[in-house]
Amino acid sequence: MSGMIAHWGFHSSADADAARPIAFLDRDGVLNVGRQGYVNRPSEVELLPGVADVIAQLKELDFLICVVTNQSAISRGLWDTGQLEVIHQELQQQLLSRNEHAGIDLFLTCPHRYEDACGCRKPSPEMLYLGHQLLRMSGQKEQMYFSSKTHPISNRTVNWWGEKPEPFHPLDLMVGDRRSDMGAGWAYGARLFRVSAHEGIQAASSRLLNENDIGDAFQP
Ligand SMILES: [Mg+2]
Ligand SMILES: [Zn+2]
Repeated sequence: MSGMIAHWGFHSSADADAARPIAFLDRDGVLNVGRQGYVNRPSEVELLPGVADVIAQLKELDFLICVVTNQSAISRGLWDTGQLEVIHQELQQQLLSRNEHAGIDLFLTCPHRYEDACGCRKPSPEMLYLGHQLLRMSGQKEQMYFSSKTHPISNRTVNWWGEKPEPFHPLDLMVGDRRSDMGAGWAYGARLFRVSAHEGIQAASSRLLNENDIGDAFQP
């Protein structure tokens, strides 16, 4: 299990997307109810309140939607990438059943454990770099992408003791319920919005939709 896993949703590479901002969204505790352990099967996918409408509103403002999620159950051998795909299909289907405009453009997953030292697990910004690259530049739609150890996604190196970097697009944002989400978003340069796991993304909806909101302060 050597790379990040991509599941394509609604993104069409024919779109002129370089000018569009990206909303990077953590999954568990932001879009759906997080479980003790993991969300292990489609029947355990339970949306948090108002999520579909918030995503639709972001899309109305021209955001691309990129889910970035750590799922170490895969590296632990509890289930495989096929199971991950059906879980993401279920999440997408539930979103669309509530709001037909709530399409996710791209799901990116780090399947590793902390001790795998993979280079893509949040708080590494590697999945955000990959999302930026895939949604804005590259036409290739493969399912597996190698992390920075073997194949550099970005020329950028993270200076955790320095200033927050400039984002690739000034409106790029990251929503998460954990410090590791904020770390990944900080290292990428995104506007940061931390929410509680029982409220999810709806708690920050008015802030996300306000382009003058520079996001939460964060110190790595
Ligand atoms: Mg989470
Ligand atoms: Zn990883």
